[in-house]
Amino acid sequence: MKRKIVFLTGAGISQESGIPTFRDSIDGLWENNKVEDVATVSGVFSDINRSETFFNSLKQKISECSPNAAHIAIADLAKDSENFEVIVLTQNVDDLHRRSGTPVEKTIELHGNIFRNRCRSHPDISGTDFKEARGCSYTGAHYDENWKFPQACPRCHKPATFSPDVVLFGEALDFSALSDAEYHASTADLFIQIGTSMEVFPVAALIESVPISKRAYIDIEKPEKNGIYEYEFIGKAAEITPKVCNMIKEQKL
Ligand code: NAD
Repeated sequence: MKRKIVFLTGAGISQESGIPTFRDSIDGLWENNKVEDVATVSGVFSDINRSETFFNSLKQKISECSPNAAHIAIADLAKDSENFEVIVLTQNVDDLHRRSGTPVEKTIELHGNIFRNRCRSHPDISGTDFKEARGCSYTGAHYDENWKFPQACPRCHKPATFSPDVVLFGEALDFSALSDAEYHASTADLFIQIGTSMEVFPVAALIESVPISKRAYIDIEKPEKNGIYEYEFIGKAAEITPKVCNMIKEQKL
């Protein structure tokens, strides 16, 4: 019988790839911008030039980062599809799970993907699968220096609607992505949370569908509450995750 291993990842898994976590960034600014100016719907659309500069600069920086040993260990475990069904639920928008080789159909990007664009006049049909983006979504190039923000949608032609497919503050998550994630969390044999403060809802609530006996935790900081994880691994994701994946392969976890 295949074991179903579900990973829920946050900004901490990409920290060793050189991408600051939300906590690292929040004490000040994102690329010299206030968070509310570049991460909320009203902020993003109130100053198109600022948003274009911000998103292009962020995309360029992220495109220069590579998946680290944690992303790669998860992708390797997913390759053993005879013994494991590996599902990655990620809050990250950095595309590093896909680039490390985790199959796109096994990855749910709950907060979107900065390298993909979405028509905001059709919020209900944002693609969650990088290759098979639906509706007005578009499978964009990794980093396109000629990319302009925001463009007219190539499908419905509404001007200024085609913008990065990231969930901004004030926007709802893709409903089908969230319900798929809930299904996978509730049917996991092992649910491993990596590098997330679990402060962003509704994703943080996913763990409620997992019995404590099936929960594992990887983070540089101890969990805030005691007794809510069966297994706790404190340390850097890129060091711990490969060890944890080996333990899973050796049936020690
Ligand atoms: P967060 O910043 O709130 O929490 C990061 C967590 O990772 C903390 O618990 C921290 O202790 C831990 N951590 C930091 N470095 C680590 C390391 N090397 N190894 C293991 N753990 C480490 O991040 P969050 O919970 O993901 O929420 C932030 C939100 O911001 C998310 O919704 C996400 O979409 C977005 N975000 C994404 C990225 C990205 O795509 N890489 C980066 C920053 C923020």
